[in-house]
Amino acid sequence: MGLDTPTSFWFARREWLAGATGSFLLAMSPGGADALTASPHPVPTEADDRPWDLLIRGGTVIDPSQDLGEIRDVAIRSGKIVRVERDLPAGQARQVVDASRKLVTPGLIDVHTHVFPYVGPYGIEPDPYCVTRGVTTALDAGTSGAFTFPALRKFIIPAAATRIRALLHVVSIGMVTGSTPDMGELEDLRYCDPELAVRVAEANRDLIVGFKIRFSEKYTGPNDLEGLKRARAAADQAQLPLMTHIGGSFTPLPQLLALMRKGDVVTHSFNSRPHGIVDAAGKVTPEVQEARQRGVLFDVGHGAGSFSFDVMEHCLRQGFLPDTISSDLYSANIHGPVYDLTTTLSKFLLLGLNLREVFARCTVNAARMFNFGAEIGTLKPGAEADVSVLDLLAGDFTFTDSDGKTRRGGRKLLPVVTVRAGKLFYPVAG
Ligand SMILES: [Zn+2]
Repeated sequence: MGLDTPTSFWFARREWLAGATGSFLLAMSPGGADALTASPHPVPTEADDRPWDLLIRGGTVIDPSQDLGEIRDVAIRSGKIVRVERDLPAGQARQVVDASRKLVTPGLIDVHTHVFPYVGPYGIEPDPYCVTRGVTTALDAGTSGAFTFPALRKFIIPAAATRIRALLHVVSIGMVTGSTPDMGELEDLRYCDPELAVRVAEANRDLIVGFKIRFSEKYTGPNDLEGLKRARAAADQAQLPLMTHIGGSFTPLPQLLALMRKGDVVTHSFNSRPHGIVDAAGKVTPEVQEARQRGVLFDVGHGAGSFSFDVMEHCLRQGFLPDTISSDLYSANIHGPVYDLTTTLSKFLLLGLNLREVFARCTVNAARMFNFGAEIGTLKPGAEADVSVLDLLAGDFTFTDSDGKTRRGGRKLLPVVTVRAGKLFYPVAG
């Protein structure tokens, strides 16, 4: 059973087109800001007794954590959500964002990104691709290992407005070698020291929320099963979940899944490479169904090579939906086919998921998957003031998967403004 059991559609598509969101063809309004910098945090003066720092007015709030899908205003004070109600008085807020005809969601959580730049070939700057594009929390999925995590901690995480948490690669060098065929990180098992990984995780409990390991033969040679045994030992000792990258593994997937436990996460679940989750006829294999039954979770992790429309459609027809939708953003896919998380989410709209089903998979489900150390993925009063304001454009859009195959969709999500800890961030122009 996944985190979010597929339910009947929450909103009929036609209701949305005719009703709440009205005209979709509004230009993005970046408010004149084309830099990453947030607007100045409103500073109350002695004469200013308005209780709210920010009011997001008139948007259609979609918050699956509260089963909410209607027009509400969201009031924020001191970096926390304080009220989510209809017709809150604008005069009570020092700053007002007009979200009419927009969607308002909990700040999006992307559980598979690579936001550790300058060390190895994968990492990207976090803020231009995350907080300015609706993602308030990004999980760096194993770009760093025990030897390199200190640099992520010291130089990247504190400088980013995006909240960053990390999965520590069980291989101590992390992902510094790229996909050069003879330089996979798990080809030399001396780098895979579970005791070292546990020590670093224990010393950085505030930022490291789990472990990561990759199982493509080009990264492992014949060592994937032994690497997984060591990762299993580390995860058990630290009592943290383990995310495994699948697709093209040396060892058949059932043998790998057998070592995964409740709360562990398979990413790149819907790739079209050998040893995937479906058989040659497109049927989800019994071992995968059994893994889900015992609580193993299945994430998208789109990436440049790991998301197939064909495989996803086979799975959806069998009722096998992902537990979370993530981008796997890294340097080789930010100019396509991934671009960002909202583009990935738009692909699931064309595949037939409704807005509730899509947003559950990047808010409440993601927040439950890992312990992020903050109340996120929800707009409940008291939660972090992480909010995404998005446009839902109507038109004729072409989307491309990791195999270069395309689908056309009539709707596209576009970030308008993101609130992170009470501050505003706009998309970077161009
Ligand atoms: Zn990745």
